[in-house]
Amino acid sequence: MKTVASGDIEPVRQPEKTKVAMIFVAHPDDAEFGTAGSAAAWAREGWDVYYTIITDGGSGGDDHATDVSQEARRKISEIRKEEQREAGRILGLKDVIFLDYPDGTLEPTLELRRDIVRLIRQYKVDRVVCQSPEWGWEWGYSIGRNHPDHLASGTAVLRAIYPAPQNAWDFPELLAEGLEPYKVNELLVVGAPHPNFAVDISDTLDLKIEALRAHKSQIQDPTGMLATWMRRWASSRAARYGLDYVEEFHRATQNWDED
Ligand SMILES: [Zn+2]
Repeated sequence: MKTVASGDIEPVRQPEKTKVAMIFVAHPDDAEFGTAGSAAAWAREGWDVYYTIITDGGSGGDDHATDVSQEARRKISEIRKEEQREAGRILGLKDVIFLDYPDGTLEPTLELRRDIVRLIRQYKVDRVVCQSPEWGWEWGYSIGRNHPDHLASGTAVLRAIYPAPQNAWDFPELLAEGLEPYKVNELLVVGAPHPNFAVDISDTLDLKIEALRAHKSQIQDPTGMLATWMRRWASSRAARYGLDYVEEFHRATQNWDED
């Protein structure tokens, strides 16, 4: 071990905070339900906000379809990607990234972990948002919220954010690609069992509803109740924060001294 006087030690510096947020979800439209109001709010505050959609969305066709060929899946995927890009434009996102894992069979593999780490290093992501890796037992949680792809995406992201982005020794091939370590500062988990943080979306709730409507192939609103439901949902947790409309998260940071 090399011994140095304390005055010679170069302090390890965390790079400047980047104001880059990346929201990782399994499917096109997932992010709109849990985080679109926050994404729009952050974009307005000057953050570069990205969505990363992990699957290709190719299983999102009619439940009773008879043609489920690769070609049919590809067409659905293209439609859903365009809908997701349109939602991103509405919200003011910097970009929407697609990792194109097959929809419906997502697993938290090492390959997926590496893909997530690669993006974190490439974009220098300061704030990571992901889906809960846990089945929701709370009252009011729908069966669909616990889609195995959602749980797998949450698991993959939580396994990816530490330590590999900040540790050159993990996935050494990424360093060989020129991607230097980068330390994520903040994690926000959607739908986690113990939310401890809320984002005020009072000024962006309308954008969230508009972004949801961009997913025409997935979300039909014949009764016009979508906006009512979204307002009710966003207000149901808001009072304890002294706000009107919120999106709620479990928040964790790497810094002991923060907050
Ligand atoms: Zn989904």
